[in-house]
Amino acid sequence: MSKVLLGCIADDFTGATDLANNLVRAGMRAVQTIGVPAGPLDVPADAVVVALKSRTIPAAEAVAQSLDALRWLQAQGAQQIYFKYCSTFDSTAQGNIGPVTEALMDALGTDFTIATPAFPDNQRTVFKGHLFVGDVLLSDSGMRNHPLTPMTDANLVRVLQAQCARKVGLIDYKTVAAGEHAIAARIAQLRAEGVAIAVVDALANEDLLRLGPALKNLPLLTAGSGVAIALPANFGIQASARAADLPQAGGTRAVLSGSCSLATNRQVQAFIAAGRPAMNIDPLRIAAGDDVAAEALAWAAPLLAKGPVLLYSTADPQAVKSVQGQLGVDAAGALVERALAAIARGLVEAGVRQLVLAGGETSGACVQALGVAQMQIGPQIDPGVPWCWGRDGAGRPLHLTLKSGNFGADDFFSKAFTMLQ
Ligand code: ADP
Repeated sequence: MSKVLLGCIADDFTGATDLANNLVRAGMRAVQTIGVPAGPLDVPADAVVVALKSRTIPAAEAVAQSLDALRWLQAQGAQQIYFKYCSTFDSTAQGNIGPVTEALMDALGTDFTIATPAFPDNQRTVFKGHLFVGDVLLSDSGMRNHPLTPMTDANLVRVLQAQCARKVGLIDYKTVAAGEHAIAARIAQLRAEGVAIAVVDALANEDLLRLGPALKNLPLLTAGSGVAIALPANFGIQASARAADLPQAGGTRAVLSGSCSLATNRQVQAFIAAGRPAMNIDPLRIAAGDDVAAEALAWAAPLLAKGPVLLYSTADPQAVKSVQGQLGVDAAGALVERALAAIARGLVEAGVRQLVLAGGETSGACVQALGVAQMQIGPQIDPGVPWCWGRDGAGRPLHLTLKSGNFGADDFFSKAFTMLQ
């Protein structure tokens, strides 16, 4: 088995898929594992993305899991480590981006790394250290209302510094525009000033491609998925036109949505407006002890043969706040995740083999409940979201797509299935 070149640690499952998607599109054979595998990798891959669910767990646990993943990736021969977080820099005041970055730096014995969530293909750009989502600052975007990681400051140097003991600095767009040598000189200058982590501006893919060569010798990179487009070239790998083929899809189809992002709210509305069957999963009813999962499965059973069905807890910010006020933020999240995961298991029992999962935490809970250990990355549906293929704990083949809340066009839930026909 050839050695893994790039070893990646992702802090959630959709983020892992997003990263693997960019690596595949840039020519690398990529495999995503769900958690840290027990044994060695048993398929050939240039890059492996270990998907953790460590974005919102206590920082010490996120650090421990990330270090576990690091050790496994090193054992597979990984030459460079990539810590992947969300393109909207999702984190709480305690982390976990800062603590995990610093723990990885300690373990790798490195004094410098970068931090950039820029992903221009998905309208995430960084200018003078400030993160923009489309045309607005992060703090003016829908992320300010996120159920678990509300982002109210767009200044990433400030946000990251608050999570780090090491000094955080900036490589600004002028330096990036001047190319590899200017970036290398700026890195040397920052190092001399005692800066250990540099937020990097990037407004377009060209910026990331200019940044790529300057990153070749850094043991650790931390970023969203955007930087990935520039890395395969550092290993002598060119983009290949060969489509990321997956086995033929079969079975029936379903969408499970626990994301409450603006994009997912639009996708749910578009699916319903297209006349497709949809059932709302109400957190308050779950909390009251109703067996909502059983109801949902009974509702879906007669519909599945006719086309895709949607089960969603997706709600607007006001409704989410109200539920959180009554149940608590974490309790509400966990309750909904458990219910959707139980529904995912029931759907696969009922013959569903094509499953769209919307929401990072949500899809993490679902693939774990299904016992999927490893996924091959296939064709892209929308930027950041490919179809994947793997087997559940019982060995049943499944086509899965793990959609990060903010990703995907309004018709994503229908378009995804059309692509597999
Ligand atoms: P995204 O990718 O949009 O961030 P996630 O699945 O990661 O989506 O996060 C959404 C969180 O909100 C999950 O923990 C989910 O269980 C929770 N949630 C989903 N629906 C509701 C709701 N109606 N009220 C409160 N919390 C909800």
